[in-house]
Amino acid sequence: MKTRPVVLCFSGLDPTGGAGIQADIEAINSHSCHATPIITALTIQDTHNVQHFEIVSPQLLRKQAETVLGDMKVSAIKIGMLGSVSIADAVHCVLRKHPDIPVILDPILAAGGGGELADEHLIEAINKLILPYTLITTPNTIEAKRLAHSNCKNMQCIHELAKTGVKYVLLTGTHDDTDQVQHRLFKGDELISDFHYARLDNSYHGSGCTLAASLAALIAQGVDIVNATQNALDYSYHTLTHAHSLGGGQLIPNRYFWAHKK
Ligand code: PLP
Repeated sequence: MKTRPVVLCFSGLDPTGGAGIQADIEAINSHSCHATPIITALTIQDTHNVQHFEIVSPQLLRKQAETVLGDMKVSAIKIGMLGSVSIADAVHCVLRKHPDIPVILDPILAAGGGGELADEHLIEAINKLILPYTLITTPNTIEAKRLAHSNCKNMQCIHELAKTGVKYVLLTGTHDDTDQVQHRLFKGDELISDFHYARLDNSYHGSGCTLAASLAALIAQGVDIVNATQNALDYSYHTLTHAHSLGGGQLIPNRYFWAHKK
């Protein structure tokens, strides 16, 4: 009987289809894995910005996840938008019961257009309830500073993040003022790899989701962290160079560029 690795996703729904659960499913399918979608929140947004969101019932979310986990062999858990402390708490309860499944966390704190998707209480909950169970998190430099509660240099943020118990941090460099984009992979406090890409002119909706979801799929397949990171960054970069302009704001990554190159 044929099978494929399953990645359980906790993500928000973005009605533009650029970010959130749709990004996860497309990126995970592109890596020949199966995504199981557990929705954390419904958003109102366009390609410019998020206007509003409402979370789902935490009890319902927890039961959905436990039901899937009771039936399928889940090889990785990908976490995106959490939206509230109560959802973070429900996800925490699931993670605590399944400590052997690798967790990939994209710490969604704001939308690309700047709309807030997390407050200080949720940041605290991510640090205390989610990061201790996380194998790898993928903050950009702005998110890393907010999670570390400091306006400090990148290395100090990494030090603070390592203290939460997260094993690896992939610090993405899109928001840095550098000619090339530099992404850095840390194990605890130690820089173990860095990756360079040409800086693209446009801005993209769902690029972070694409990266974390493809990384989750590769980890679900048993690829080691450094190779999984390299492959996920390469894949994500190509989804951006093939992105489509579908609304008036950010471009939408083409996660099926490999299937149809139009
Ligand atoms: N998840 C949801 C549901 C969102 O609405 C957004 C941004 O609007 C994101 C994730 C983050 O998107 P990005 O990958 O562009 O950071």
